[in-house]
Amino acid sequence: MEGVRYVPSPNCDERPGGCTAELLVIHNISLPPGEFGGRGIEELFTNRLDAAAHPDYPAIAELKVSAHFLIRRDGELVQFVPCGKRAWHAGESSWRGRARCNDFSIGVELEGTDRAPFTDAQYERLAELTRALQARYPIRDIAGHSDVAPGRKTDPGPHFDWTRYRAMLDQPPPRRTRRKTRAQPQRKQSRAGPFTTHDSRLTAARTAKTPRRQARARRK
Ligand SMILES: [Zn+2]
Repeated sequence: MEGVRYVPSPNCDERPGGCTAELLVIHNISLPPGEFGGRGIEELFTNRLDAAAHPDYPAIAELKVSAHFLIRRDGELVQFVPCGKRAWHAGESSWRGRARCNDFSIGVELEGTDRAPFTDAQYERLAELTRALQARYPIRDIAGHSDVAPGRKTDPGPHFDWTRYRAMLDQPPPRRTRRKTRAQPQRKQSRAGPFTTHDSRLTAARTAKTPRRQARARRK
């Protein structure tokens, strides 16, 4: 993706054999809690958080955690872990009966809290990122951290607008992303729905039997 700032985190390892990214897990995080714009999140994910810098930090400074991506309040996208590797974001978790979500998921942190709405720039960036990941990986589901670790985690919280996010994914992707998607082979999705990357014109052109029908399908 364009405009990604890469900050490598040592808190990652190889995905277990045969695992790829099939699930997107949405989180929120802010450090210090409730404050935006500082370096705390990047310091935590790179094991450089100064325990003395804030009363809340001693409890978390030694944690070895990370996520693949962070979307800041202004929409800036930061990547910490390559998508092919396992980031350490979900902890003890399960999805559709399958434990250890880190093995088969991509973790996206939104800078925020459970108590405040997210910004327009964050939704736009998240939708753009989601489309790019769907074009590259067989992402079947998108869930909140609270969905994969119920009772233990509450993020992304009640202010994350799932309806808005899903509606944004339903909209046709911006041209830049669509061209990229088009150059890649169509991936079979296990279910249709808001998270399916699908260009119906392209499919119609491919499946049309005669050249005249192909041309007609392309014109639609
Ligand atoms: Zn989380």
